[in-house]
Amino acid sequence: MMLSSENPARQAMIRGFFQRCPHCGKGDLFRAYLKQVDHCASCGEAFAHIRADDGPAWLTVMVTGHVVVAVMMSVESFLILPLWASIAAFCTLAGAMVLGLLQRAKGIFIGLIWQMKAAEAVSARPALSPAD
Ligand SMILES: [Zn+2]
Repeated sequence: MMLSSENPARQAMIRGFFQRCPHCGKGDLFRAYLKQVDHCASCGEAFAHIRADDGPAWLTVMVTGHVVVAVMMSVESFLILPLWASIAAFCTLAGAMVLGLLQRAKGIFIGLIWQMKAAEAVSARPALSPAD
């Protein structure tokens, strides 16, 4: 796979998409479906402090919703399915897409957060006082 080193954010996101360490591209990024490793087994880079929060779910739902609705409207424009078949087919498609995309979306967000050092910036920010 050819990766450009000219854009490090893009490279980190691509490596995350393929569930690889954004730093070296060799070690696994996940130890379970949505659990990232604490440290890369290949280069030792730390990932335990990175929190992707709702970003991966947002991206997954956005992509899945657009694809499933487009496919559903296309199919239903020339083929009238029974309601049960329509629900079964499109819910299965949506579920499969969510399961297929969620880990990759989390990899993209971890790669981007790691590359931008955003987790370190959040932890270095002074705590808000109650008056804020
Ligand atoms: Zn690594």
